[in-house]
Amino acid sequence: MTATARPGQIVTPDELRALASDGTKLRYALMELAAQIPDAIALGRGDPDLDTPAHIVAAAQAAIADGRADVPAPPAGLPELRAAIAAKLRRENGIPVDADGVLVTSGGQEALYLLIQALLDPGDEILVPDPRYTSYDEAIAQAGGRQVLVPTSPEDGFDLRPAAVEAAITPRTKALLLVTPSNPTAGIVSPASLRGIAELAIRHNLIVISDEIYEKFIYPPGEHLSIASLPGMWERTITLNGFSKTYAMTGWRVGYLAAPPEFARVLTRFKQAASDRTAAVSQYAALAAITGSQECVAEFHATYTRRRALMVDGLRRLGFTMGEPLGAFYIYANAASTGMSAFELSYLLLREAHVLIFPGTAFGERWVDWLRVSLLQPEEVLQQALARMADVLERHRRG
Ligand code: PMP
Repeated sequence: MTATARPGQIVTPDELRALASDGTKLRYALMELAAQIPDAIALGRGDPDLDTPAHIVAAAQAAIADGRADVPAPPAGLPELRAAIAAKLRRENGIPVDADGVLVTSGGQEALYLLIQALLDPGDEILVPDPRYTSYDEAIAQAGGRQVLVPTSPEDGFDLRPAAVEAAITPRTKALLLVTPSNPTAGIVSPASLRGIAELAIRHNLIVISDEIYEKFIYPPGEHLSIASLPGMWERTITLNGFSKTYAMTGWRVGYLAAPPEFARVLTRFKQAASDRTAAVSQYAALAAITGSQECVAEFHATYTRRRALMVDGLRRLGFTMGEPLGAFYIYANAASTGMSAFELSYLLLREAHVLIFPGTAFGERWVDWLRVSLLQPEEVLQQALARMADVLERHRRG
């Protein structure tokens, strides 16, 4: 295959490697590179490719048509949306929250930024699973916090083990971050581990941030448990979630967090300072999403399930190894059998196969043999990506 663009001239491997210590910058540089390649297949970033369901779009159109979109919502969010989110969290997650404990934000990204700024003082330590969703790095650094990595491993499906958490606790530890299901590993924190972690959090007086943005995409035998539902945990947990993944609404920018009301009030002041309020039109769309039929979520789940089976099988045929991904819409695969580092491999695949895949080093420096593949393309495109990858790997082995 001949490259239609020559990305090597735009960003050289050395330039990219220089970015390798900053996961977020590396991901964005690779995406920029892919954008220069007209037939690139993007299996990189994590925004659902599926369309926002029609009834959600219609609710936004109605809010525009009758002028509600032009009326600013209160800083903490539309009262009816906060109430609907609280009802969902009580019903589905067993979290004892009322509307006054819910803050609507401009995406989960804003929620995570606000709560890190509000929680961490300079020098405070926060425990973060390794590999990690590196978008938290910048928020932690800006607060002057120190990120302490807690190892997870492929042998046990990247579960976050209480013993590993305990080993990382110091007198400066303020908080613990959980992302379950996990980006990038597609692992989940098992209910047994969550119970052990809850005990530790209570014993060491830690605050827990539980990022549950992928909760609707779990595959058997995985199961979801919200740590805030466990005894003694509601008062020390901030649960983060949003509409981007569940309802394919990334561009609408609606997320939320649930916390004890006094902390939610503090966070509302941060929210006001940051962006005043979340766009009303998007909140009306989110309200339709959360109160309407959940059939669309079941359909998305079925779609990701089919893609996941196709990709796990295809990647194994290419010699990659992985456990069963239990959640989210990613596959975290070991590519050591190619004889290349994940970084070299992802660069080669982008240049020659025109397939964008993130190296594990975008999620933590020790993941040099790993790749994160996202399942956010139609099945026929995933097939095409696999065929192109097979071709390049075959040529590379021969050459
Ligand atoms: N948390 C995790 C773990 C994510 O992967 C993402 C999106 N990639 C977010 C939070 C934020 O998503 P959004 O701002 O679109 O709600």
